[in-house]
Amino acid sequence: MKAVQITEYGGPEALKYQDVPDPTPGEGQAVVDIQAVGVNFTDVYSRSGVNPGPALPRILGVEAAGAVRAVGPGVTGLQEGDLVAYCSIAGSYAEQQAVPASRLIKMPAGLDSKDGAAVMLQGMTAHYLCYSTYPVQTGDRVLIHAGAGGVGLLLIQMVKHLGGYVFATVSTEAKAQLAREAGADHVILYTQQDFAEEIKKATDGQGVQVAYDSVGKTTFDQSISCLDRRGHMVLYGAASGPVPPVDPRVLGNGSLYLTRPSLGDYTVTREELESRSSDVLGWVKSGQLKLRVEHLFPLSQAGEAHRQLEGRATTGKVLLIP
Ligand code: NDP
Repeated sequence: MKAVQITEYGGPEALKYQDVPDPTPGEGQAVVDIQAVGVNFTDVYSRSGVNPGPALPRILGVEAAGAVRAVGPGVTGLQEGDLVAYCSIAGSYAEQQAVPASRLIKMPAGLDSKDGAAVMLQGMTAHYLCYSTYPVQTGDRVLIHAGAGGVGLLLIQMVKHLGGYVFATVSTEAKAQLAREAGADHVILYTQQDFAEEIKKATDGQGVQVAYDSVGKTTFDQSISCLDRRGHMVLYGAASGPVPPVDPRVLGNGSLYLTRPSLGDYTVTREELESRSSDVLGWVKSGQLKLRVEHLFPLSQAGEAHRQLEGRATTGKVLLIP
């Protein structure tokens, strides 16, 4: 089969479209014929070596959807042809992947592989951020950075559904429009305006109850500075680079909370994985959660997909099609 591998860390050119052996299903595994691969910012960290991960060479990617091709010993409840989706399993930039059956989610009728690969990782991330890490209450003021990004557009919709008031930041007017369409109440172009000052102005100096910050290095200090008393700083990514070490005394100005959550810690058990994924897939099916899947590339063009994602040229979800 074909797959996109890295043999050394580097830029998008490090992604190599190559022949590799077909996988076979081991004990408790199913091999999936991948129909759509989800591209996530975490793939950029893995490719560049910011998050080194398992030994090289290896196949990049952690999210996909497709049809079950074969099941291994000990697998029950899955059969050839079932449409499934999964995330957080390394090696999805490929035509096929052997995946633990315990991490596969059957797609609800009416949704296709593109929906599955578009929403599993970013949708469950948005879900745990606003339902578990800091459960948003009606009337909460909420800051969401990169509001037109993959996670951003989904998180805005979920926070609005929970009754929050959303401040979203974006880099361009075109992205601002998308964030507004997703429901953001107040959109700030953080490349042109000081978002912390804008938020202070708009809230009579009070600030927000929670900042969901996936940008990291360039936004961290200001995100902390616009939190209300006992506010929550949820640092869940580093698109602009890692945040330098933090002095805990910065949290003393208002008895603040700081956390650095990961999806893996919020989908630990099968029960938790099923509960979050069924919410998210159910909302897509009912139309409550709108997906924006505008950027599709052939699997062989994974390098170009990375260039655009890193270059802030994408909105919503980026998919690779084998
Ligand atoms: P996005 O689609 O949001 O793309 C990243 C966005 O970040 C860009 O579009 C851009 O939006 C913004 N950005 C700001 N500064 C930079 C910069 N210097 N370089 C590049 N982008 C920048 O990606 P994802 O939805 O895949 O991921 C969003 C974030 O969430 C990432 O940081 C990712 O690591 C994190 N994440 C964390 C998870 C967790 O469990 N902890 C799980 C999933 C994702 P703009 O142009 O508007 O500024």
